[in-house]
Amino acid sequence: NTICPIQCPIPNCKERCQSDDHFHAFSDLQVNHFCGNEHQCRELCEDNGICQVVTKPKEQEEIYEGLVKETSITFTKYIQLSERLKCNKKIPPNEFKHTGKHTHKENGFHYCDAKCQFCEYYCTLPYGHTLHTHDTGHGIMTQTEFTGEDNVFEYAGYKLRVGDQGTFVLCNLFCKGLGRHRHIDYCQNVINCKDENQGRDIQHINEKVLPNPDKPKDFISHKLFWKRTGFKDPYSVQDQQEFEKCDYECPDDENLSYSNNEF
Ligand SMILES: [Zn+2]
Ligand SMILES: [Zn+2]
Ligand SMILES: [Zn+2]
Ligand SMILES: [Zn+2]
Ligand SMILES: [Zn+2]
Ligand SMILES: [Zn+2]
Ligand SMILES: [Zn+2]
Ligand SMILES: [Zn+2]
Repeated sequence: NTICPIQCPIPNCKERCQSDDHFHAFSDLQVNHFCGNEHQCRELCEDNGICQVVTKPKEQEEIYEGLVKETSITFTKYIQLSERLKCNKKIPPNEFKHTGKHTHKENGFHYCDAKCQFCEYYCTLPYGHTLHTHDTGHGIMTQTEFTGEDNVFEYAGYKLRVGDQGTFVLCNLFCKGLGRHRHIDYCQNVINCKDENQGRDIQHINEKVLPNPDKPKDFISHKLFWKRTGFKDPYSVQDQQEFEKCDYECPDDENLSYSNNEF
Protein backbone atom coordinates (compact mmCIF):
# COMPACT_ATOMS: atom_id res chain seq x y z
CA ASN A 1 0.00 0.00 0.00
CA THR A 2 2.59 2.51 -1.04
CA ILE A 3 0.87 4.33 -3.88
CA CYS A 4 -2.50 5.94 -4.61
CA PRO A 5 -4.01 3.94 -7.54
CA ILE A 6 -6.28 6.68 -8.88
CA GLN A 7 -5.65 8.09 -12.35
CA CYS A 8 -4.70 11.74 -12.91
CA PRO A 9 -7.90 13.81 -13.54
CA ILE A 10 -6.52 15.64 -16.59
CA PRO A 11 -8.20 14.18 -19.71
CA ASN A 12 -5.89 11.96 -21.75
CA CYS A 13 -3.28 11.73 -19.00
CA LYS A 14 -2.54 8.08 -18.33
CA GLU A 15 -0.41 8.69 -15.23
CA ARG A 16 -1.38 7.75 -11.73
CA CYS A 17 -1.73 10.04 -8.74
CA GLN A 18 1.63 11.24 -7.44
CA SER A 19 0.83 10.46 -3.81
CA ASP A 20 2.63 7.55 -2.21
CA ASP A 21 -0.11 7.27 0.39
CA HIS A 22 -2.84 4.91 -0.73
CA PHE A 23 -5.28 6.44 1.69
CA HIS A 24 -4.40 10.15 1.25
CA ALA A 25 -7.93 10.79 0.07
CA PHE A 26 -9.11 10.11 3.59
CA SER A 27 -6.59 12.25 5.37
CA ASP A 28 -6.15 15.30 3.10
CA LEU A 29 -8.83 17.98 2.95
CA GLN A 30 -8.84 18.52 -0.79
CA VAL A 31 -7.63 15.75 -3.01
CA ASN A 32 -7.27 15.97 -6.80
CA HIS A 33 -4.95 13.01 -7.47
CA PHE A 34 -2.79 14.97 -9.92
CA CYS A 35 0.14 13.11 -11.40
CA GLY A 36 2.42 16.06 -10.73
CA ASN A 37 3.48 16.60 -14.34
CA GLU A 38 2.94 19.55 -16.61
CA HIS A 39 0.12 18.89 -19.15
CA GLN A 40 -0.46 20.07 -22.68
CA CYS A 41 -3.69 22.12 -22.95
CA ARG A 42 -6.08 20.51 -25.43
CA GLU A 43 -8.63 23.29 -25.85
CA LEU A 44 -9.06 25.22 -29.10
CA CYS A 45 -7.51 28.63 -29.75
CA GLU A 46 -9.83 31.44 -28.61
CA ASP A 47 -8.18 34.27 -30.51
CA ASN A 48 -10.20 36.36 -32.95
CA GLY A 49 -9.86 35.48 -36.61
CA ILE A 50 -9.02 32.22 -38.35
CA CYS A 51 -5.94 30.34 -37.14
CA GLN A 52 -5.06 28.69 -40.41
CA VAL A 53 -6.17 28.97 -44.00
CA VAL A 54 -4.65 26.72 -46.62
CA THR A 55 -4.34 29.18 -49.47
CA LYS A 56 -3.76 26.49 -52.07
CA PRO A 57 -7.21 24.95 -52.39
CA LYS A 58 -7.96 21.26 -52.56
CA GLU A 59 -9.01 20.19 -56.06
CA GLN A 60 -11.63 17.62 -56.94
CA GLU A 61 -13.35 16.70 -60.23
CA GLU A 62 -17.14 16.82 -60.09
CA ILE A 63 -20.16 16.84 -62.36
CA TYR A 64 -23.00 19.33 -62.11
CA GLU A 65 -26.38 18.14 -63.43
CA GLY A 66 -28.29 21.23 -64.50
CA LEU A 67 -32.01 21.91 -64.26
CA VAL A 68 -32.22 21.80 -68.06
CA LYS A 69 -32.10 18.09 -68.95
CA GLU A 70 -29.20 18.02 -71.38
CA THR A 71 -26.98 20.17 -69.19
CA SER A 72 -24.24 18.20 -67.50
CA ILE A 73 -21.07 20.05 -66.63
CA THR A 74 -17.75 18.59 -65.54
CA PHE A 75 -15.81 21.03 -63.43
CA THR A 76 -13.01 21.20 -60.91
CA LYS A 77 -14.17 21.82 -57.40
CA TYR A 78 -11.78 23.95 -55.36
CA ILE A 79 -12.09 23.81 -51.63
CA GLN A 80 -10.41 26.24 -49.27
CA LEU A 81 -9.52 24.47 -46.06
CA SER A 82 -9.45 26.41 -42.83
CA GLU A 83 -8.82 25.34 -39.31
CA ARG A 84 -9.05 26.44 -35.70
CA LEU A 85 -5.85 25.22 -34.10
CA LYS A 86 -5.31 23.74 -30.65
CA CYS A 87 -3.96 25.78 -27.77
CA ASN A 88 -0.18 25.53 -27.44
CA LYS A 89 0.01 26.44 -23.75
CA LYS A 90 1.03 24.08 -20.97
CA ILE A 91 -1.02 23.55 -17.84
CA PRO A 92 1.29 23.85 -14.81
CA PRO A 93 1.65 20.82 -12.52
CA ASN A 94 -1.23 20.31 -10.07
CA GLU A 95 -3.53 22.74 -11.90
CA PHE A 96 -6.59 22.14 -14.07
CA LYS A 97 -6.00 25.20 -16.27
CA HIS A 98 -3.30 27.57 -17.38
CA THR A 99 -3.78 31.30 -16.90
CA GLY A 100 -4.93 33.57 -19.74
CA LYS A 101 -6.75 32.78 -22.97
CA HIS A 102 -6.31 29.64 -25.01
CA THR A 103 -4.19 30.50 -28.00
CA HIS A 104 -2.45 28.51 -30.70
CA LYS A 105 0.39 31.02 -30.52
CA GLU A 106 0.68 34.05 -28.27
CA ASN A 107 0.17 37.12 -30.52
CA GLY A 108 0.39 34.78 -33.51
CA PHE A 109 -0.95 35.53 -36.97
CA HIS A 110 -4.67 35.07 -37.59
CA TYR A 111 -6.54 35.46 -40.84
CA CYS A 112 -9.48 37.85 -41.23
CA ASP A 113 -12.79 36.09 -40.58
CA ALA A 114 -14.73 37.71 -43.46
CA LYS A 115 -16.03 35.23 -46.02
CA CYS A 116 -16.93 35.85 -49.63
CA GLN A 117 -20.69 35.38 -49.68
CA PHE A 118 -20.57 33.42 -52.94
CA CYS A 119 -17.72 30.94 -52.51
CA GLU A 120 -17.32 31.11 -48.72
CA TYR A 121 -13.55 31.55 -48.99
CA TYR A 122 -12.05 33.42 -46.10
CA CYS A 123 -10.26 36.70 -46.65
CA THR A 124 -6.53 36.01 -46.75
CA LEU A 125 -5.49 39.29 -45.13
CA PRO A 126 -4.54 39.45 -41.45
CA TYR A 127 -7.30 39.72 -38.85
CA GLY A 128 -8.22 43.35 -38.16
CA HIS A 129 -6.58 44.59 -41.37
CA THR A 130 -6.84 48.31 -41.98
CA LEU A 131 -7.37 47.88 -45.71
CA HIS A 132 -10.95 48.81 -46.50
CA THR A 133 -11.79 45.85 -48.72
CA HIS A 134 -11.27 42.15 -48.09
CA ASP A 135 -9.34 40.01 -50.52
CA THR A 136 -9.11 36.33 -51.31
CA GLY A 137 -8.35 33.88 -54.13
CA HIS A 138 -12.06 32.94 -54.55
CA GLY A 139 -13.46 29.51 -55.28
CA ILE A 140 -16.55 28.04 -56.83
CA MET A 141 -19.82 29.72 -56.08
CA THR A 142 -21.39 27.11 -53.84
CA GLN A 143 -23.72 29.63 -52.20
CA THR A 144 -25.29 31.01 -55.33
CA GLU A 145 -28.09 30.54 -57.79
CA PHE A 146 -28.44 31.91 -61.26
CA THR A 147 -31.08 34.47 -61.97
CA GLY A 148 -31.96 36.36 -65.13
CA GLU A 149 -34.67 38.12 -67.03
CA ASP A 150 -35.39 34.97 -69.04
CA ASN A 151 -36.15 31.69 -67.33
CA VAL A 152 -33.89 29.73 -69.66
CA PHE A 153 -30.68 31.23 -70.95
CA GLU A 154 -27.23 30.33 -72.11
CA TYR A 155 -24.11 30.80 -70.06
CA ALA A 156 -20.64 29.80 -71.25
CA GLY A 157 -22.22 27.52 -73.85
CA TYR A 158 -24.46 25.72 -71.35
CA LYS A 159 -28.24 25.91 -71.23
CA LEU A 160 -29.31 26.97 -67.77
CA ARG A 161 -32.49 27.82 -65.96
CA VAL A 162 -33.14 30.35 -63.21
CA GLY A 163 -32.35 28.54 -59.98
CA ASP A 164 -29.39 26.60 -61.35
CA GLN A 165 -26.55 26.45 -58.84
CA GLY A 166 -23.37 28.40 -59.32
CA THR A 167 -21.28 25.48 -58.10
CA PHE A 168 -19.38 25.04 -61.37
CA VAL A 169 -18.26 28.65 -61.78
CA LEU A 170 -15.48 30.45 -59.98
CA CYS A 171 -16.31 33.83 -58.44
CA ASN A 172 -13.45 35.45 -60.26
CA LEU A 173 -14.34 33.96 -63.67
CA PHE A 174 -18.11 34.33 -63.72
CA CYS A 175 -18.23 37.72 -65.41
CA LYS A 176 -15.30 37.10 -67.73
CA GLY A 177 -16.42 36.91 -71.32
CA LEU A 178 -19.80 38.47 -70.60
CA GLY A 179 -18.67 41.82 -71.97
CA ARG A 180 -20.87 44.65 -70.80
CA HIS A 181 -23.26 43.31 -68.21
CA ARG A 182 -25.18 44.14 -65.11
CA HIS A 183 -26.12 42.12 -62.08
CA ILE A 184 -29.45 41.64 -60.38
CA ASP A 185 -29.80 42.31 -56.68
CA TYR A 186 -32.60 43.07 -54.28
CA CYS A 187 -33.80 46.63 -54.35
CA GLN A 188 -32.58 48.32 -51.19
CA ASN A 189 -34.79 51.38 -51.37
CA VAL A 190 -37.89 51.22 -53.56
CA ILE A 191 -38.86 54.87 -52.97
CA ASN A 192 -35.47 56.25 -53.97
CA CYS A 193 -35.34 53.93 -56.94
CA LYS A 194 -38.70 55.10 -58.28
CA ASP A 195 -37.49 58.70 -57.96
CA GLU A 196 -34.59 57.64 -60.17
CA ASN A 197 -31.98 59.38 -58.12
CA GLN A 198 -29.79 56.35 -57.72
CA GLY A 199 -27.21 57.25 -60.34
CA ARG A 200 -26.10 55.04 -63.19
CA ASP A 201 -25.11 52.11 -60.96
CA ILE A 202 -28.70 51.17 -60.11
CA GLN A 203 -31.74 50.71 -62.30
CA HIS A 204 -34.99 49.52 -60.79
CA ILE A 205 -36.67 46.52 -62.46
CA ASN A 206 -40.41 46.98 -62.81
CA GLU A 207 -41.07 43.39 -63.93
CA LYS A 208 -41.12 40.46 -61.54
CA VAL A 209 -37.90 38.46 -61.53
CA LEU A 210 -37.33 34.98 -60.14
CA PRO A 211 -36.54 33.82 -57.48
CA ASN A 212 -38.96 35.44 -55.01
CA PRO A 213 -40.73 37.37 -57.78
CA ASP A 214 -42.60 39.55 -55.29
CA LYS A 215 -39.44 41.04 -53.86
CA PRO A 216 -38.43 44.11 -55.90
CA LYS A 217 -35.08 43.92 -57.65
CA ASP A 218 -32.62 46.18 -59.39
CA PHE A 219 -30.07 45.91 -62.12
CA ILE A 220 -26.84 47.02 -60.57
CA SER A 221 -23.49 47.68 -62.14
CA HIS A 222 -20.69 45.14 -61.84
CA LYS A 223 -18.75 47.69 -59.82
CA LEU A 224 -21.50 48.23 -57.28
CA PHE A 225 -22.15 44.50 -57.13
CA TRP A 226 -18.62 43.82 -55.92
CA LYS A 227 -18.61 46.88 -53.71
CA ARG A 228 -21.58 45.45 -51.84
CA THR A 229 -19.74 42.20 -51.15
CA GLY A 230 -17.01 44.04 -49.21
CA PHE A 231 -14.41 42.17 -51.26
CA LYS A 232 -12.00 43.60 -53.78
CA ASP A 233 -13.26 43.20 -57.36
CA PRO A 234 -11.28 40.15 -58.51
CA TYR A 235 -11.30 41.11 -62.20
CA SER A 236 -8.51 42.91 -64.02
CA VAL A 237 -8.81 46.65 -64.63
CA GLN A 238 -9.18 45.91 -68.34
CA ASP A 239 -12.07 43.52 -67.67
CA GLN A 240 -13.70 46.02 -65.33
CA GLN A 241 -13.59 48.72 -68.03
CA GLU A 242 -15.14 46.30 -70.50
CA PHE A 243 -17.97 45.51 -68.04
CA GLU A 244 -18.83 49.17 -67.48
CA LYS A 245 -18.94 50.39 -71.09
CA CYS A 246 -21.50 53.05 -71.88
CA ASP A 247 -24.65 52.26 -73.86
CA TYR A 248 -23.53 54.01 -77.02
CA GLU A 249 -20.25 52.14 -77.08
CA CYS A 250 -21.80 48.76 -76.69
CA PRO A 251 -25.54 48.42 -77.17
CA ASP A 252 -25.72 44.71 -76.28
CA ASP A 253 -26.54 44.18 -72.72
CA GLU A 254 -26.34 40.93 -70.82
CA ASN A 255 -28.50 40.91 -67.75
CA LEU A 256 -27.47 37.56 -66.45
CA SER A 257 -26.60 37.43 -62.84
CA TYR A 258 -26.14 35.37 -59.79
CA SER A 259 -27.32 35.91 -56.32
CA ASN A 260 -26.91 34.73 -52.83
CA ASN A 261 -28.89 31.63 -51.87
CA GLU A 262 -30.85 33.63 -49.33
CA PHE A 263 -32.14 35.64 -52.24
ZN1 LIG B 1 -4.37 10.07 -5.06
ZN1 LIG C 1 -1.38 13.88 -15.33
ZN1 LIG D 1 -5.44 30.62 -33.30
ZN1 LIG E 1 -5.24 26.46 -23.44
ZN1 LIG F 1 -10.56 40.78 -44.59
ZN1 LIG G 1 -15.76 34.37 -53.81
ZN1 LIG H 1 -34.98 49.49 -56.98
ZN1 LIG I 1 -20.01 41.20 -63.15
